[in-house]
Order: sequence, then structure tokens, then C-alpha cells
Amino acid sequence: MSDDHSHRYRGRLAPTPSGLLHLGHARTFWIAQQRAEQAGGDLVLRLEDLDRTRCKPEYVTAIYADLTWLGLRWQEGPDVGGPHAPYEQQARLPFYSEIWQQLNAAGVIYPSPHSRRDVQQALSAPHEGDRELIFPPALRPTAFAAVQEPGAVNWRFCVPDGESIPVVDGRLGQVSYKAGVDFGDFLVWRKDGFPSYELAVVVDDHAMQISEVVRGEDLLLSAAKQSLLYHALGWAIPAFYHAPLLRDRQGRRLAKRHQALALRSLRQEGVQPATLRQAWASELA
Ligand code: GLU
Repeated sequence: MSDDHSHRYRGRLAPTPSGLLHLGHARTFWIAQQRAEQAGGDLVLRLEDLDRTRCKPEYVTAIYADLTWLGLRWQEGPDVGGPHAPYEQQARLPFYSEIWQQLNAAGVIYPSPHSRRDVQQALSAPHEGDRELIFPPALRPTAFAAVQEPGAVNWRFCVPDGESIPVVDGRLGQVSYKAGVDFGDFLVWRKDGFPSYELAVVVDDHAMQISEVVRGEDLLLSAAKQSLLYHALGWAIPAFYHAPLLRDRQGRRLAKRHQALALRSLRQEGVQPATLRQAWASELA
């Protein structure tokens, strides 16, 4: 993989086709587009479809239709192609396997047969409301046989306990998380043969030469975990910009339950995309 990253701004939209996009996704993606435009850069569309049970082709179709309706455009993606294809995570397994090899050779990951509830979540981005489970260091193996393939076992990244991991964010400034306290050994590989969300995103953002990651603020802690992966792999960390979350009247993050705020529903009600964009522009001005 080349480390010849140019200095041109490259942003990305990374939707998961496991449901209809709602107003919260739309605002974050609009912010991503604004930042790419202001920097005179490009935007990549990447489908994060690793969770085969939750992702559905009809949601992929809906993503294209809804984002286009909203006025978003991307220069690379599954539908338009580009130099970093494929842009669907399902088709990128060989890239993830190669990086598993590197992490394994570096000795920073270990096989972990212990099953915890968070293991079930590992293919999805950990959104707000998902409780952060700190994996007990006592369950780290003291020794294990050297292997060349991940096999049918989960693998975790061994975090440097007690170390502060800074995250520099374009909106929030510098925040820092303590390894072993705010988060523990996190999954990088699942026993079903797929990388975790954290690993897949780092591999793809690096391979696609993303210079700034724009996404919802609920993924701020992931930036700390992902920074550890970047360090372990000797890769430059992209800039981060975590956008504010949209909330409902009860203060809850918008989620799939808010069907009424699906872009699809808003469009059917006759809401105009320009109205949404103007509202966001004045809100964030
Ligand atoms: N695919 C993730 C989601 O839908 C976003 C991950 C990211 O932007 O890093 O929440």
C-alpha cells in the first residue's frame, strides 16, 4: 500500500446501508460536503456494508437516491468508480486481511476467545447510547501460538493501559481519552472472518487517502482507538471533524426509530432540500 499521500483535501461519506438515512445523517454529510468544497477537494462515497445481516440492497439504492435528492455529489464511489475501488467494504476483505497480517506481525493484537456482548456489535460503528465495555486486561492471554491466519477466533488490540490518547478535532479542539479507562482492548477482527468497524475504517481511510474524516460526534471515542491503529501501522492520522448530533425533543440522538425524519419521508411530505440546507447553514454560521 502506498504512503504517498498528496496534500489535497479528500473527504468521505461513509453510510451504512442498514436503514433509511435520516435528517441527522443528512446534516453530517452536508457538513462533509461543505468542508470538501471549501477546501477545493474531493469527496468519496464508501458503503460500510460489512454487517451482512443488517445491510440490504434496497438501502443502498435509497442512499443514492436520498443523497442525490439532497444535492450531494461525490467524485468517487461504487456508482461512479475511481482509483481506489472497490468502494464497498464487502469487496475489500483482501485489504483487511493484509493489514491483519501486519498487526499480527507487530505483536499488537491477540486472539481472544472470550465472548462479550460488545463482540456482537463489532461490525457496526459504536454510536452514542452503546455502553462502552472495558475488556478486562486479566483476560489477555499471557502466551499464544504464532499463527499466520486469524482463524475462527476474535482478535483484540492490546491498548497501552494508562496512556492518554489525544484526538485533535476540527470542531471540538483537543480531547483526550485514557486507554484502559475510557476504552479497553477493542476488537479488530471477528471470528466470522470480518474486520471490526474500527479496523475497516482505518484501512479504508488510509487506502483511499482521506485527509479529513467528518462524521457524527458519537464516534469521537473511536478516533482514539483508530489513532492507536494508525500508530501501530506507522500511518499518518487524518484530520477529524466530529459534527454535532441532531436530537429529538427528548434529547435522544436520531436513530432508525425516527421514521418521520427519514429523508424519504421528508421528501414525500414535500420538504425542499434547499430549505434544509439553508436551515443548517444558518444554524452552523
Ligand atoms: N458507517 C458509519 C456509520 O454509519 C460511519 C463510520 C465513520 O464515518 O467512520 O455510522
